[in-house]
Amino acid sequence: MINSQIKARGVSDERVLKAMFKVERHLFVPLAHRDLSYEDGPLPIGKGQTISQPYIVALMTELLELKEGEKVLEIGTGSGYQAAILAELAKEVYTIELLKPLAERSQKLLKELGYENIKVKHGDGFLGWSEYAPFDAIIVTCAPEEIPPVLFEQLAEGGRLVIPVGSDYQELRQIKKKEGKIISKDIISVRFVPMLRGEESKKQFK
Ligand code: SAH
Repeated sequence: MINSQIKARGVSDERVLKAMFKVERHLFVPLAHRDLSYEDGPLPIGKGQTISQPYIVALMTELLELKEGEKVLEIGTGSGYQAAILAELAKEVYTIELLKPLAERSQKLLKELGYENIKVKHGDGFLGWSEYAPFDAIIVTCAPEEIPPVLFEQLAEGGRLVIPVGSDYQELRQIKKKEGKIISKDIISVRFVPMLRGEESKKQFK
């Protein structure tokens, strides 16, 4: 997986490759699909959601440019796999999942695996997590049509936001906050599940 899917496509950050090597993807894949855990694609994790393709996880993680000691926010916990990768590279990981059964399952699994630097919350990513903001990096693993303003607000100066933006197909973007302004770079075309609005943000953004 590391050589043929990830390195071959240009991910070269040694820390990222090491984390991808260390975290066992099959532990996050439901039993029914476990034999496909190291194949080159996304897999279903229940509730109509998916664990992302390993290459996309590696690419997005590299684009976060995480340093040890940093604080990162993930939107869309899903299986918890991306959160585990982040936990290998940053000091604190905060991750939000809209669907309660997925949030509960990932929280339990990450605890069993001994990740003490990950906090999982059942909630709506459109609201961010103000209690722990600002974040040095934010990764969004579901696709909104526009960059959610609250997430940019909760990004620290010099911070990086990696996010697929669009409807059916999306552009993966790396965004940096420089003197409060958006510096945006288009990376590749991707396909993610949509970022859905929870009840609270529906009310707030009506
Ligand atoms: N990062 C995950 C993959 C997530 S798939 C992994 O490593 O497995 C995208 C996830 O985003 C789904 O679980 C979906 O329920 C969640 N999601 C969709 N809209 C959301 C929102 N507004 N806030 C938080 N999570 C959301």
